[in-house]
Amino acid sequence: MNVHDSQKLAGILEHEGYVKASSASRADVILLNTCSIREKAVEKVFSELGRLRALKRSRPELILGVCGCVAQQEGRELFARAPFVDFVMGPRAIGSLASTLSRIREGKSGARRSVDTEYRDDSIEFPVDRIRREGECVAKAFVTVLEGCNHRCTYCVVPMTRGREVCRDMDDVLAEVRQLVGRGTLEVEFLGQTVNAYRDARGRTLADLLRASAEIEGLRRIRFTTSHPAQMTDALMDAMAAAGPTVCPYLHLPVQSGSSTVLRAMRRGHDRDAYLRKIEGLRRRMPGLALGTDFIVGFPSETEKDFDETMSLLDEVRFDTVYSFAYSARPGTAALSLGDRLTPEEKRARLGRLQSRQREIQEQNNRAWIGRDVEVLVEGLDKREGAKWTGRTPENRVVHFAGSSAPGRIEPVRVLAATAYSLQGEPTGTFA
Ligand code: SF4
Repeated sequence: MNVHDSQKLAGILEHEGYVKASSASRADVILLNTCSIREKAVEKVFSELGRLRALKRSRPELILGVCGCVAQQEGRELFARAPFVDFVMGPRAIGSLASTLSRIREGKSGARRSVDTEYRDDSIEFPVDRIRREGECVAKAFVTVLEGCNHRCTYCVVPMTRGREVCRDMDDVLAEVRQLVGRGTLEVEFLGQTVNAYRDARGRTLADLLRASAEIEGLRRIRFTTSHPAQMTDALMDAMAAAGPTVCPYLHLPVQSGSSTVLRAMRRGHDRDAYLRKIEGLRRRMPGLALGTDFIVGFPSETEKDFDETMSLLDEVRFDTVYSFAYSARPGTAALSLGDRLTPEEKRARLGRLQSRQREIQEQNNRAWIGRDVEVLVEGLDKREGAKWTGRTPENRVVHFAGSSAPGRIEPVRVLAATAYSLQGEPTGTFA
């Protein structure tokens, strides 16, 4: 969501006649699009601002804006730590970027040091031709369908930084997808903090959206992220299974903990058994479905026994991808009152145990693909892999291969080797 917001900010600048500067020192405008999901990300923003302070001092005409969730969270307080910043703009206010910049350039009073953290419902209606999809392979595109979140997980800042849910009209979403396909997009990824809560004003759900977009000629892959277990309904699972291969057999379904006690303290709206029932329902309908999840390790009330339940969930589900983080207390969240009871060493040790077991599981899962032929949507060259092509299978597995190709091509590749994080293969030239 943050990457896609950056594409929108860049698109607004381009529409206003700005061009990309070759370096920060030559820029007239610098925007930091920030994330506040974890403390580390927030600290990164302030250290980056520290680096920009000297530049701003030497060129006071430079316009420096802080956008995104840190802007929303800090508001005017941000000026106390970084008084040289010119404006602060939350993620639901990015539509006002052009007018903010022109007011600053015209020297309007109050334009510098302005704060815009309004939750605008129309922030979700963004002109498609004003999104600069740089950094993405042209064949892949994000499409926002929902913004904000109506859940209240006790550790999470998103409901405060992004506001309550607002959904786009399904016809507008489909029109955007058709436009993208007309420009060469093969894969779209529908975005929302809780994307499976999508329901437009006419009551059309994500299941309807998947069905309708799977019919669009030329569209080869559909993904959606991030789903909430509570809204993973039977109707949605049925729609995924029935929509055919265009809907990719991969689902990211964050669980956060394997302990029902911790899940209750997190106010997740599901317990361990309910989560496992969803997994069973998904796998019954789609036996080849790859699964990803998120874990927070070291939540304040997490005991050794709770953590053991997280470890046992890893073995029970055998996820294909796991994003795991040590808990960090976030301002304004309900969990803040619980304190941060585990020491950083304890959290690090638990995280290390989880990641090491997951690495083994992932490697075993990936090794099962050796000898199979897969379809890879090529994203580009990966220099770390000795300039091999890199891309993803429909199951979201990363594949590296040598040979001639190009970003945006769909290549048939035979898998020859596997690690915990990727598959290596060779192109076969023809689809089986
Ligand atoms: S579902 Fe929970 S974790 Fe996800 S964005 Fe909403 S409040 Fe945050």
